[in-house]
Amino acid sequence: MTTLVWFRDDLRVADHPALYAAAESGDAIVALYILEDASEHIRAHGGAARWWLHHSLRALADALAERGVPLILRQGTTEVVLADVVAESGARTVLWNRRYGQGRHHDAALVEALGADGIRVRTFIGDLLFEPHTVATQDGGAYRVYSAFWRACTAEREPAGPLPAPRELTPALSQPRSDALDEWALLPTSPDWSGGLSERWTPGEAGAQRRLDEFLSQRAGRYRARDFPAEDNCSELSPHLRWGEISPRSVWHAAVDATGDIGLFLSELGWREFAKHTAFHFGPLHARNLNRRFDAFPWATDSHGEVAAWQQGRTGFGLVDAGMRELWQTGFMHNRVRMVTASLLTKNLMTHWRVGEAWFWDTLVDADEASNPFNWQWVAGCGADAAPYFRIFNPELQQQKFDPDGHYVQRWAPDSDAVLRIIDLKASRARALDAYQSLSG
Ligand code: FAD
Repeated sequence: MTTLVWFRDDLRVADHPALYAAAESGDAIVALYILEDASEHIRAHGGAARWWLHHSLRALADALAERGVPLILRQGTTEVVLADVVAESGARTVLWNRRYGQGRHHDAALVEALGADGIRVRTFIGDLLFEPHTVATQDGGAYRVYSAFWRACTAEREPAGPLPAPRELTPALSQPRSDALDEWALLPTSPDWSGGLSERWTPGEAGAQRRLDEFLSQRAGRYRARDFPAEDNCSELSPHLRWGEISPRSVWHAAVDATGDIGLFLSELGWREFAKHTAFHFGPLHARNLNRRFDAFPWATDSHGEVAAWQQGRTGFGLVDAGMRELWQTGFMHNRVRMVTASLLTKNLMTHWRVGEAWFWDTLVDADEASNPFNWQWVAGCGADAAPYFRIFNPELQQQKFDPDGHYVQRWAPDSDAVLRIIDLKASRARALDAYQSLSG
């Protein structure tokens, strides 16, 4: 018997329940990754994400090859590709780890279509600690407040322990044809802007595990001071989690085993869960305001090239410019700085949060269908459990507080103070509050 394991945002072999089940079954295995065309269910990857995906697929293909199974790469409309590969391989069973965003509607239709052809589909938990159907308010609804959500998740239970990586897999004798990874042209060429990304990151499961080990042994003790972007106090695991190179429950259990005082770090994993649950219940998050009152918000139009100045880190506000340039060069930005840059764009410049969300989508290596729009909406004031609209970050005070010695700004935007400020903070703050009042009145 042949079993097909379909990899999606779970590019790993350890704690991969679908792969584990295939290995345990003793069946011959076909391992598949489909590069899905953008559709109503799938948002096309941004440039930084494509770079990451290329390297992550290479690493996964190596890990599977070491266990005897090739990774089959195919591009096209999912329904068509999946049906083709099932037919070519003669698979009678298809396994995958569940997803919770728009793709899940796709998955439901696929289960039906495959079932109609007599193919058995089995799905598993792989990307969350706690799945949406296990977390509900007393009246059976979805949580909109994070603290209550996380209490409900963690009350009297822990996520299941991670599964080991299968040591050996039985390959199907006849493997379907595969594209060559290079044919997909995921890497930038003219120009190749990926130098800063390669310097900072090692995509793939081994890189993820190294980063986790290093965080837990060297930095987790300083995690309380995580808001200082010049200090390396955070885990920087987000792109590895985004691509499923490490599972959240592996991270959870390693963290709990390594040190006692880790609740704050676990609660950040909780925000990741909250974003995904919110997307599950109310998505697609990038397409509409969670708080529909904001549909009437009088967003400003980009009349003087403010958006380009923000994107390029030329606003004249050191912390914002440093963050935007770090993002451009490395595909990443520290969480505190993400909040400050997003606040300047959506509140002082009164630019629609979707404009900033789209820029982050294209430039972040951890660009995530749930977390990115969730956090943009949170900062803009229209999201779940959002920051109150009147709380507008002052980028100067944020810089004084969180980069007191100026190391972060010096590193990324040493010339920023010489740049003419794009906006007057006081006047733009008053304008934003007026606009908000117009919404309430
Ligand atoms: P740590 O502090 O070490 O936290 C551990 C893990 O918890 C992270 O790796 C991440 O998976 C999760 N996490 C932490 N904070 C959040 C949060 N606020 N929301 C969701 N998950 C969280 N995160 C993404 O993974 N993808 C995105 O596309 C993304 N876009 C963002 C956009 C904006 C405007 C803002 C303000 C935040 C965004 N975040 C996003 C959340 C957060 O900034 C990153 O997860 C965090 O900076 C990653 O750094 P870290 O791995 O060192 O985090």
